[in-house]
Amino acid sequence: MDEIKLGDVTVTRIEEMHGPLGLTPQELIPGVPQQAWQRHAAELIPDHLAEGIAIVAFQTWLVRSEGQTILIDTGIGNDKTRPALEAWDHLAQPAYLDNLRRAGTQPTDVDLVINTHLHVDHVGWNTSLRDGDWIPTFPNATYLMPRADFEFWDPANNPDIPAIAGGGNVNVFEDSVAPVRAVGQVRLWEESHRIDGNLILEAAPGHTPGSSVVKLFSGGKVALFAGDLLHSPVQVMEPDASSCFCTDPAGSRAARRRLLGWAADTSALVLPAHLSGRSALEVRRVPGAFAISNWAPFSRY
Ligand SMILES: [Zn+2]
Repeated sequence: MDEIKLGDVTVTRIEEMHGPLGLTPQELIPGVPQQAWQRHAAELIPDHLAEGIAIVAFQTWLVRSEGQTILIDTGIGNDKTRPALEAWDHLAQPAYLDNLRRAGTQPTDVDLVINTHLHVDHVGWNTSLRDGDWIPTFPNATYLMPRADFEFWDPANNPDIPAIAGGGNVNVFEDSVAPVRAVGQVRLWEESHRIDGNLILEAAPGHTPGSSVVKLFSGGKVALFAGDLLHSPVQVMEPDASSCFCTDPAGSRAARRRLLGWAADTSALVLPAHLSGRSALEVRRVPGAFAISNWAPFSRY
């Protein structure tokens, strides 16, 4: 099952890919000590850790709320030139748009695209290559982007981009952000932005300067679309450990503690961008950290 109902809102998991990321757990999340990976092995193997390699998913949350069709994050994308990321360079995979269509959504149906932040693996399907040009994949959508990330990742503002996180974001602004802006489909927001009666975007900087989350409140249900607040469920038990991709690890840690605490106190379902297995979870407080209390009823990848 890839679809759940939260109050009046339908949430569908759209997979782009999942599997080993090619990084050891220590490379992905340097702050988690070796013993902690072993201590939490029962929670992690095999869905999130296998043969010493971290397992992750790349997925979009398709959200249908108040008649609107909304995508939260858009994965890695096809045809992109990614000099520092061999595995994602010039991908030609039909799975993402096929899975979207299988869920009953054509690209022209999408009303709103939310990029929780502007990393390479969250904006990829923003655009598609047609006759040599990058055009919005979702021609009728408004794309909501955090202004802080839009300004940070614009090479005109920040010449250090090639050095950040191993150069993973090289070309990303040019092929996946600027072409959408150029045709007037981008709306920038700051601090918070109400989407409708069920959904609100909130800034959660740290992973990147503009990183954000979406909170859902509908019919007594609460959820948190958490973007890259977590890359592995180990960060529920070890909430101080930030990923190797965080531009501000201390800010990321503070955001993670604050939002996991909020999720525990409100019984929110937490839906990050990259969890494999059942992809979404509920948490509870334990002294000094958090624990997993439930996994969502999505089928296991
Ligand atoms: Zn990511």
